[in-house]
Amino acid sequence: MTDLPQNADVVIVGGAAIGSSIAYHLMAHPQFSGSVVVVEKDPSYARAASALSAASIRQQYSSAINIKISLFGIEFLRQIGTHLGVEGHSPAIDLHEGGYLYLASEAGKSVLLENHAVQRREGADIALFDRQQLAAQFPWLRVEDLDCGTWGRTGEGWFDGWAVMQAFRRKARALGVHYIQDEVVGFQKTGQAVSEVRLASGAKIGCGMVINAAGAQGQKVAAMADVSIPVVPKKRYVFTFHCKTPLAHVPLLIDPSGAWCRPEGHADASGQLFIGSIGPQSEADDPPMADDDFEVDPHLFEDRLWPALAHRIPAFEEIRPGRAWAGPYDMNLFDHNAILGPVTGVDGFLLANGFSGHGLQQSPAVGRGLAEYVIFGAYRSLDLSELGFDRLAAQRPVLEKCVI
Ligand SMILES: Cc1cc2nc3c(=O)[nH]c(=O)nc-3n(C[C@H](O)[C@H](O)[C@H](O)COP(=O)(O)OP(=O)(O)OC[C@H]3O[C@@H](n4cnc5c(N)ncnc54)[C@H](O)[C@@H]3O)c2cc1C
Repeated sequence: MTDLPQNADVVIVGGAAIGSSIAYHLMAHPQFSGSVVVVEKDPSYARAASALSAASIRQQYSSAINIKISLFGIEFLRQIGTHLGVEGHSPAIDLHEGGYLYLASEAGKSVLLENHAVQRREGADIALFDRQQLAAQFPWLRVEDLDCGTWGRTGEGWFDGWAVMQAFRRKARALGVHYIQDEVVGFQKTGQAVSEVRLASGAKIGCGMVINAAGAQGQKVAAMADVSIPVVPKKRYVFTFHCKTPLAHVPLLIDPSGAWCRPEGHADASGQLFIGSIGPQSEADDPPMADDDFEVDPHLFEDRLWPALAHRIPAFEEIRPGRAWAGPYDMNLFDHNAILGPVTGVDGFLLANGFSGHGLQQSPAVGRGLAEYVIFGAYRSLDLSELGFDRLAAQRPVLEKCVI
């Protein structure tokens, strides 16, 4: 954190994975010569989704744009040292391409096949297995009630999400971005353009452009600019557990019940640590998350997650539960996808909100895209306009069926 500048070409609200990726991509772009300030209210990131996520990346989406975004994401993560190295130090992000394994019963087969066709068309390396092939490939899996499954041979897996966020931040700072510890509480407009950012400390920063990267608080920050977005914080959990039985090559498994799990860290003589969770059963079971409610539901693991996972992987009958945490999804209620870029009627105000549980893996492509938008007024490398704000009023959803 540094002294407060009075003006900046670009002010970014929120300095976690998305805000820091945008800041980095701006400063690293040869055609950008402006100044960037990131305002972050909590540099411990204790409640930021970026620090609480399951830190996994997949190509198994139903919408082509999400696949394109994640294909860039995995390339970026593979080359992270080239992009985000600072003074010869390459970030250690522990990328493990273990794949996702989406499982389908007879009832879910047609959707799985449809999604698989889109993924193959976009160039994702996803294999389709029938029940016999699943049993042969994953001998620890119960397959009797399954019809088929899709598995990412390459391009999918997990990484250290905290390390990726910090790597963006460190590199952005090394390139000259000012990080300020403060809270954005309002904007001043000149005509229909945002021209000043007001901070809780009473300070003000004159600006050419503001980018809303406030995660689960994105709706509140948008409202400060008189912009309404259908983004609501939803509570999601991560549970850890330890399994003594050695299980070879467990991918990130997604069960038809909605339960998921994946290995965390490396197996040793005492067994393997896993993380996992399960989504809410209904809309009624999924109210908006209050700002200070990070309490873990003690019954979810015992009543729903463990039975579902032990059904699918019988070795999980004998596990030891470990710590658990809750974090906020910035859920876009309109179509479960990010809302990116400019807002009609408010000049100089860009959105990077509503990631609905897949924002960490999207941070490289979103950062690059918004940086291009700031510099050129248009996307240059990957067209993200399909995910624009205008689709809300036009009732043009980019429906993502694969939301975990
Ligand atoms: C349990 C869980 C599991 C997840 N698993 C995955 C996964 O496997 N893969 C994946 O890709 N994604 C996953 N996600 C989603 C992913 O973590 C988020 O989409 C992504 O981290 C969003 O990043 P962000 O920078 O937009 O928001 P955040 O990380 O939430 O950061 C927003 C920042 O803005 C700051 N801020 C807010 N308001 C203000 C203000 N007014 N002034 C100043 N600062 C402000 C906050 O302090 C915060 O640091 C998961 C999320 C959760 C909760």
